[in-house]
Amino acid sequence: MKARFRAALAALALSAAGLAPAAQAGDFMVTLLGTASPAPRPDRSGPSTLIEAGDQKVLIDAGRNVPVRLWQLGVPIGRLDATILTHFHSDHTAGLPDIWLTGWIATPYGGRKAPFRVIGPTGTQALTDGLKTAYDADVQIRLVDEKNPPEGIEIATTEFDQGGVIFDQGGLKITAFETDHGEHIKPNYGMVAEYDGRKVVLSGDTTFDPRVTEQARGADLLIHELGTAHPDLSQQDHARRVLAHHATPRQAGEVFAEAQPKLAVFTHLVMLSDKAHPAPSLSDIVAETRQTYGGPLMIGEDLMTFDIGRDGVASYIRD
Ligand SMILES: [Zn+2]
Ligand SMILES: [Zn+2]
Repeated sequence: MKARFRAALAALALSAAGLAPAAQAGDFMVTLLGTASPAPRPDRSGPSTLIEAGDQKVLIDAGRNVPVRLWQLGVPIGRLDATILTHFHSDHTAGLPDIWLTGWIATPYGGRKAPFRVIGPTGTQALTDGLKTAYDADVQIRLVDEKNPPEGIEIATTEFDQGGVIFDQGGLKITAFETDHGEHIKPNYGMVAEYDGRKVVLSGDTTFDPRVTEQARGADLLIHELGTAHPDLSQQDHARRVLAHHATPRQAGEVFAEAQPKLAVFTHLVMLSDKAHPAPSLSDIVAETRQTYGGPLMIGEDLMTFDIGRDGVASYIRD
């Protein structure tokens, strides 16, 4: 058994005590579609999280390979009610044109007939306008050649310029809140998803930020990012700059300890390495988190689903 997988199992075991024994087959589910950072990894796709609540399906960020992950779940790429962006780092947006264009193709995996709905911070309109320009040739070809419905390739963009409710439909409410991802990385937001009395908080990309703690107090599920590296590597210029934009496992543990979610989960694993400095293992990450937090904890994997029940959060890999 590979060390990485063994470590993941250890993390799962750590979380078991915090899980309700019989979480109901719920109508509020959150699935990690991609758990990586910009690092190109075959096992971890770019950052993206699917929220399913009642009949609503909303994507938070659209990283590399996310259309593949959606279809692995059997969710047609054209089925999304909205795609929400937290910020403009390319690891969070690289999958956006793929979702837009592939979701329009008249197949079981595409099939969108209504406009592609994108909600994001100020600047999102410029991004989607740019996509229309960049992919105009493909759009024109498919309109005349495949006769795909013209409405399905429209983009309905909504921008927000401060925290607040940005999506409220079918009982699912999503609220953006500002977080600190670094001096030059603005705008930047975390997200709160609420449905039928249950609450899930996504830190988004952030340094240690008490605003995440405030939002996550009493949440059913807190999904937090992290950044880590070998101590020697973390002193080098580029690594130091990157890590300054993320929370260490120890810092995330402080957020978890204060907010006390029913379950805390890591995603967006920034695990820097080079030839001389292998990245810390998942066991190392758990151990560092345990310096500040003793509660239910998991390290996310692609396609890991959390079923947010009334009595607890159940988790499993959905494939
Ligand atoms: Zn990122
Ligand atoms: Zn970022």
